[in-house]
Amino acid sequence: MSMEVDHLGIAVRSLDEALRFYEQSLGMTVIGRETVIEERVNVAMLPAGAPRIELLEATDSDSPIARFIEKRGPGLHHIALRVEDLALTIERLKHGGARLLNEPRPGAGGHTYAFVHPASTGGVLLELIQK
Ligand code: ZN
Repeated sequence: MSMEVDHLGIAVRSLDEALRFYEQSLGMTVIGRETVIEERVNVAMLPAGAPRIELLEATDSDSPIARFIEKRGPGLHHIALRVEDLALTIERLKHGGARLLNEPRPGAGGHTYAFVHPASTGGVLLELIQK
């Protein structure tokens, strides 16, 4: 099964502050901003070759991103791999005993995604995504 890095998700305290670096200083361009209500997060996507950088800002103080920043500070939050068949991939992971954090559901950009717990991946939160 072919897989590609889709994006790297970085937890930030403030999108506007982070974009001063990524857009104004580094010269990257935001191709989309949106709020994912279910994850309580504001997202900004910046292309970086084929993969993108996804900046994640909490929309409230008890959201997963807020809790991540509180515990570990801003920084790399997850790696997203794009797979051809998410349902099949999830089935295989479940069969292999991997710890999944959610059933596949629609997220940023309307893509279906599921998260795999760092305990199953070597210490990094892994997002699996299907377009
Ligand atoms: Zn992501």
